[in-house]
Amino acid sequence: STPVAMCCALSKAATSGLLFKGAEYLETLAKIKIMAFDKTGTITRGEFAVTEFRSLIDGLSLNTLLYWVSSIESKSSHPMAAALVDYAQSNSIEPKPDRVEQFQNFPGEGIYGRIDGMEIYVGNRKISSRAGCTTVPEIEGDSLQGKSVGYIFLGSSPAGLFSLSDVCRTGVKDAMRELKQMGIKTVMLTGDCYAAANHVQDQLRGALDEFQAELLPEDKATIIKGFQKEAPTAMIGDGLNDAPALATADIGISMGISGSALAKETGHVILMTNDIGRIPKATRLARRVRRKVI
Ligand code: ADP
Ligand code: MG
Repeated sequence: STPVAMCCALSKAATSGLLFKGAEYLETLAKIKIMAFDKTGTITRGEFAVTEFRSLIDGLSLNTLLYWVSSIESKSSHPMAAALVDYAQSNSIEPKPDRVEQFQNFPGEGIYGRIDGMEIYVGNRKISSRAGCTTVPEIEGDSLQGKSVGYIFLGSSPAGLFSLSDVCRTGVKDAMRELKQMGIKTVMLTGDCYAAANHVQDQLRGALDEFQAELLPEDKATIIKGFQKEAPTAMIGDGLNDAPALATADIGISMGISGSALAKETGHVILMTNDIGRIPKATRLARRVRRKVI
C-alpha cells in the first residue's frame, strides 16, 4: 500500500545516504527536471591550496601581508580561509585572530577586518567596491589560469593578490551523466570567478549542461526561481551563500559532512556522505516509488 511503499523508500534512501526531512520531498524528487549544483564544496572538495601569493605594494613584505590576511581569515569559515591560514602556517607565520577588530563577512564577496590599525579587505572583484577601490588590478600569468583569484586591499588600495586551486570530487562527472540520462538538466551556480568555474566545466565536459559564475547568494535564488518557471528544480549546496537558493528550490539538498549549519538547517534533504552519486540513485528510487503509489 501507499504509506508502506513510501516508508520503505524513505528508509532505503536513508540507508543509501540521503536523509529526507519529510515524505513529501521523496515525491518532489521524483518530479525534478533541473538540478543546480553549487561549485565550491559541492562539486569540488572545497579543499583549496594556495598556488600563488603576491604583494602589490613596494616595501610591503609577503610575510606582513600574509600575517594580516591569515589573522583575519582565521575568523571566517570559508574554505578559502582555511587554505590561507594553512599557507601562512606552512610559511612559519602564526595568525593572530585576537588582534582582529570589526570582523565582517560578506557572503559571495569576502571579508573585512582591522588589524594593527590597518583596514583590510580580502575577497573577489566584488569586495573592491566595499573597499572603495574602482580599479581592480588586472591579473596575468599562466599560474593564475583556471584558478580562483583573490584580492587584498589595504584601505582602498590594492595590496596583494593570490590564487587557489581546488579539485572536483570523485564521481561527480558520472553522477551528472547519469542525471542527464534520466532527462535532468545539470547546472552549476557559483560565486567564484568565471575562470575557475570554466576550468571545472572543462573537467565535467559532456556531463554539465551549463554554468553561471560570480553570483551573489540572492542571484543563485533568483536563477532557481527562473528555472522553476520551466520545470521543478533542485538545488544542491553546502555554504551559507547557498541557503537562499536551497530554500527557494522545490528541493534543497545540503551536504551533510562538510556543509554549513545554515545549509543543513535550510535543506529539505541532507546528503549524509560526500558522494554526489547518491543523488541520481535516490532520484531513481523516488521515481519507482511514485509509479507504485499512483
Ligand atoms: P561558491 O558559490 O563557489 O560556493 P562562495 O559564494 O562561497 O562560492 O564564495 C564566492 C567567492 O567569494 C569566493 O570565490 C571568493 O572569491 C569570495 N570569498 C568569500 N568568502 C571569502 C573569504 N573568507 N576569503 C576570501 N574570499 C572569499
Ligand atoms: Mg559552496
